Amino acid sequence: MVVSSGTIDSLLKEKEQYPPSAAFRKAAVLRSDSFRVDAAKDPEAFWARMAKELAWMAPWSKVLEWDPPFAKWFVGGKLNMSANCLDRHLAGPRRNKAAIIWEGEPGERRVLTYHDLWREVNLFANVLKGLGVKRGDRVTIYMPMIPELPVALLACARIGAVHSVIFGGFSARAIRDRAEDAESRLIVTADGGYRRGAVLPLKKIVDEAIADLDVVRHVVVFKRAGVEVSMREGRDHWWHELMAKADADCEPEAMDATDPLFILYTSGTTGKPKGIQHSTGGYLVGVATTTKYVFDLKDEDLFWCTADIGWVTGHSYIVYGPLANGASVFMYEGAPDWPEPDRFWRMIEEYDITILYTAPTAIRAFMRWGDEYPRRHDLSSLRLLGTVGEPINPEAWRWYRKTIGGGRCPIVDTWWQTETGMILITPLPGVTTTKPGSATRPFPGIDAEVVDEKGLPVPMNKGGYLVIRKPWPSMLQTLYKDPERYKQVYWSQVPGKYFTGDGARMDEDQFFWLMGRIDDVINVAGHRIGTMEVESALVSYRKVAEAAVVGKPHPVKGQSLVAYVVLKKGEGRSDELKKELQKHVREAIGAIAVPDDVYITEKLPKTRSGKIMRRVIRSLVSGQEIGDTTTLEDPGAVDEVRKWLAEVEAHPE
Ligand code: ATP
Ligand code: MG
Repeated sequence: MVVSSGTIDSLLKEKEQYPPSAAFRKAAVLRSDSFRVDAAKDPEAFWARMAKELAWMAPWSKVLEWDPPFAKWFVGGKLNMSANCLDRHLAGPRRNKAAIIWEGEPGERRVLTYHDLWREVNLFANVLKGLGVKRGDRVTIYMPMIPELPVALLACARIGAVHSVIFGGFSARAIRDRAEDAESRLIVTADGGYRRGAVLPLKKIVDEAIADLDVVRHVVVFKRAGVEVSMREGRDHWWHELMAKADADCEPEAMDATDPLFILYTSGTTGKPKGIQHSTGGYLVGVATTTKYVFDLKDEDLFWCTADIGWVTGHSYIVYGPLANGASVFMYEGAPDWPEPDRFWRMIEEYDITILYTAPTAIRAFMRWGDEYPRRHDLSSLRLLGTVGEPINPEAWRWYRKTIGGGRCPIVDTWWQTETGMILITPLPGVTTTKPGSATRPFPGIDAEVVDEKGLPVPMNKGGYLVIRKPWPSMLQTLYKDPERYKQVYWSQVPGKYFTGDGARMDEDQFFWLMGRIDDVINVAGHRIGTMEVESALVSYRKVAEAAVVGKPHPVKGQSLVAYVVLKKGEGRSDELKKELQKHVREAIGAIAVPDDVYITEKLPKTRSGKIMRRVIRSLVSGQEIGDTTTLEDPGAVDEVRKWLAEVEAHPE
């Protein structure tokens, strides 16, 4: 076999291992790896077995129709997503179980049982119908994190409308572009939502977004904050007025498994957001299965995924995955540091939350704020922790395990994307011996590999491109209205394999280590270095909370490394710091990875989803213009980064 020498140099070596505790393993949904072994033998049979646990209105005739690069799962099968998440639970003991336990930022609480939620969804589905929304129509949803947001999603699913959720932090421009692209007839919003004690005027932003957008015929407004809004006669309607008049019964539409359930635009870390289109049947099978096995979900759990429903994580692991499993979901409206940085820990203590799923960026913020906040609270209800969104550096992983998990909770570091719909690489918490910083192994039925630019497998512990070799049920169907771009972005780099755009290496135990995005790889004197490893080395220094590393043109080396570093609370700058950090990186991973420049900063520029914007920093640092700023989520972000850079670079270490 021809084997490549690898395309990214791997420097990081993390040796620690954490097997699941005997107590955890004993009670776990999965206790042995036989599940994975079986799935690998015949993935289609495995997914069909998983699918049979769900409610179908008509059986499928074919599990998978693979006409590369287009996959159709459960062809011929009919089902309804909302019936799977709601109606199915009403006949048994889950009927009056809490589906959603919610806390608003100002402190109000609401509990919706499965029956309550079902009722609201029926009513709102009829509201949508009453406004002329039909099967296949697109509905844009721009709401705060309140229970009406999942109600709106599920109501669309009930009548077969395709939802497109836009994160509540986006600007009018972003809404306009997305609503226009999706040709949405209707927008669901609220008067406002709470964030750090202030009210974000959502309806006002929608007004601005659609002032000259004729496709949008109706706007439904939920009264959340009680702020003044202007209502345009004939176009704008109050949620509560329509609900009061709506019929309480709405039969779930029998959808084809291959009908689209939603469109969701990616967070735009690497460029122009892509309109990812997901199916109904395959998507449901993927998220229902992963929720159950990755999070070891039991009926007694209170599951809290802290993502916003505006991102795929919220779609899959606040709404569809947990509800399809009949779980109790905790939902919070506001900021983690409001009114104080212990808000999360206070709620975990009060509600006895058992599973916490959050992002490395949040964990690093908690570390920076200091241990005193989690220490104020009893977190012993927690039994499992998860992360998603970026690679988690081993230092943050260890802190999370010890300070939040009390050393007792397994951590599932889950790698996936908006495109993949479901978690693809992850520990199985009762089975996998984890290593800090590794997402470990592919979920059962998933076939992942690390290859070079020719598509050849790279040797063990060499970095390359992460690809997926076989289709999986919840994979994106296409890019909305743009199948050519779908082919080009995901299927042209490595023929026949799904190209993730992420770098990774596989170690001697076949564990995957994500190394950051291919686009961010830096070429130093012939070595290709992933940002993740250098950032991890920096963060493992006791004074450092967070780091971003980018490349900058260098006359001899090709590129040199520039590091931007955020210190922990209470750590001061010093003349020696740059040298200390360089020495630390040299010792941790080697001379080649030592940054030539080190800047201390108060914060790092991030996307709205909380990911570091290396792409923009890199362009500005190299003196290149960003080029087409319409490719950014929010063109204003470039100016912010420019301002940030000017400030940071005025005070080098
Ligand atoms: P865009 O594709 O528009 O640039 P994005 O990739 O940030 O935006 P998402 O789909 O939200 O949009 O993020 C998926 C990406 O997040 C992955 O490709 C990977 O780079 C990163 N990621 C997610 N989870 C992990 C993880 N556990 N470990 C490492 N990286 C992760
Ligand atoms: Mg992406």
